[in-house]
Amino acid sequence: MSAHAHDHDTGQPLLPVEEARRRVLDAVAPLPPRRLSLRDAHGCVLAEDVAAPGDLPPFTSSAMDGFAVRAADVAGATIDAPTPLRIVGRVAMGRASGVAVGPGEAVAVPTGGVIPEGADAVVPIERCVVDGDLVRVLQGEPPGRHVRRAGEDARRGERLVPRGRRLLAGEVGLLASAGIADVAVHPRARVLVVSTGDELVEPGEATGPGRIPDANSLTLHGQIVEAGAIPVPAGIVPDDADALLEALAAHRQRADVFVSSGGVSVGERDPVKRAFRARSDVRFVEVAMQPGKPQAFGTVHGRPFFGLPGNPVSVFVSFEVFVRPALMAMMGRPPDRPEVTATLESDIGGPPEKTRFARVRVRREDGRWTASSTGGRQSNLLSTVARANGLAVIPPGVAVARAGEPCRVMLFRDADEVPS
Ligand code: AMP
Ligand code: MG
Repeated sequence: MSAHAHDHDTGQPLLPVEEARRRVLDAVAPLPPRRLSLRDAHGCVLAEDVAAPGDLPPFTSSAMDGFAVRAADVAGATIDAPTPLRIVGRVAMGRASGVAVGPGEAVAVPTGGVIPEGADAVVPIERCVVDGDLVRVLQGEPPGRHVRRAGEDARRGERLVPRGRRLLAGEVGLLASAGIADVAVHPRARVLVVSTGDELVEPGEATGPGRIPDANSLTLHGQIVEAGAIPVPAGIVPDDADALLEALAAHRQRADVFVSSGGVSVGERDPVKRAFRARSDVRFVEVAMQPGKPQAFGTVHGRPFFGLPGNPVSVFVSFEVFVRPALMAMMGRPPDRPEVTATLESDIGGPPEKTRFARVRVRREDGRWTASSTGGRQSNLLSTVARANGLAVIPPGVAVARAGEPCRVMLFRDADEVPS
């Protein structure tokens, strides 16, 4: 601890952000695999290699509407000297072909229809003239032309999707095409969200003197959904340690992780502090970061517990820095947001002993990223988050990051979404 920085105002030792993050990531593991339907598995990380149960596609079919022929029969066909073939049948979609193509014969076949026995090419309908039960072929086709061979996408037993791959549209479509209905994945983490504070009311309810809407539950709800996890709202609990403990106990079967906000400071009634201060499996730390200095982290009911501070901007930043990476790891995904190096457009100051996470708007102009601050650093100014698309990371030791200097920025919106 002695090597760590100390808080400039209180003299308290501060835990470096990286060490706090390491403790969190060391304490979480991927959730045990579950078999889910492809719909539910979409967005999740595959926990097994999945092989093709059969050839893909399963049968040889036509790639065009036309006539299945023997390529040798039509090799010399031209517009001036068409090759006449006798139409001996018609393939229906979704059925066996039912006929074979002998020398001098053709069978009408739709796109996706089974190629009949004996045929090895398809002449597209545009290159045919039908005349009763004859078809005149106007152009030769080499063997295999317009034919989709069984197994050309994947052979039976071949790996379709490797373990560890996140299943997005392409992967679930491929698995479905192989006739697979469910797969083993790391499921989405279910995250209990509880707000603490006697001053809080549900958004939309009458506030009254000294009361404010619960913003943190909604901020966290959005961040959890955006991380691909599932929020489990537990609402508001008053500043009462027993009420908090009851809320966690009541919902524990429905959650893989607990997140609370508020009540981690030294205030007399701070409920998280009072509920867990005597327990060795929940630790209260002062992290060398701004915002988000007071944090609690530990294990409650066998699940990771995050006690975030109450200030809304601290909640947003703490989620980004600690909770999101943990959820990602639990879901088998890489923990970190994409980052860019951007040129600052204004100075960013703050306590030099701490890592500062400044809300910025990043933009790409002429191939370079720029970042401009969206407002003051006070941790109650939620509008600075709403106007931002990134968090600039100013490392400890840098008193002021100056305009014109490069800076690391974590992106929390799609790169093409720049709030105006
Ligand atoms: P606390 O960490 O509980 O001392 O709260 C710090 C500040 O954050 C206080 O001004 C609280 O009113 C405010 N705060 C705490 N929880 C919330 C919440 N859920 N929504 C909005 N503000 C909150
Ligand atoms: Mg409070």
